[in-house]
Amino acid sequence: MTITYHVGDGLYVNLTNRCSNHCDFCERDKMDGVGDASSLWLPREPSAAEIWDSVSAHDPAAQSELVFCGFGEPTERLDILLETAAHVRRVFPQVPIRLNTNGMGNLIAGTDVTPRLAGLIDVVSISLNYARASDYEAHCLPDYPDAFAGMLDFTRRAVGQVPRVVMSVVRGTLPEEDIDVCRALAESLGASLRVRAYH
Ligand code: SF4
Repeated sequence: MTITYHVGDGLYVNLTNRCSNHCDFCERDKMDGVGDASSLWLPREPSAAEIWDSVSAHDPAAQSELVFCGFGEPTERLDILLETAAHVRRVFPQVPIRLNTNGMGNLIAGTDVTPRLAGLIDVVSISLNYARASDYEAHCLPDYPDAFAGMLDFTRRAVGQVPRVVMSVVRGTLPEEDIDVCRALAESLGASLRVRAYH
């Protein structure tokens, strides 16, 4: 069971395979692993103790950052995520902590969870993917109604709680002219836009 893996010089944490979106471009449909992990499919969800054992086995102090990402949506297991982040923060306070998310955390929990990120998460990276709700809903197939608006609201609230909030799009998966629309949208929420290359 692969709980932690490396991408570049960052240590990534794979908490769950659950996800509230069903994106038609999801990498999980094309490959089983990412970085140095041959498979990120979990036979079961790891416990907090198993996650900590796996994280601490990799000398966290030597990593450029710790990233909650994996083959699923990390905020599906928010309590375990924050427990792990708090443990890392306590023992390895110098290691930056990033959360990669689809931005559904508040819809999943049914409440605003962004205050719980404060002091534990340094960077939140949210997949914006598209410039408008109609495209988002057509391609990301979210479980929740009004998911696009919910993701934007999560972003706006996260901006008030963590030092850096980034939204991302992948060049080539949306019309080129929409990238500037996405940048303006991200900036209107207090976030920045990262344009990722398509692999
Ligand atoms: S949000 Fe991420 S993990 Fe979930 S289906 Fe979309 S691309 Fe896959």
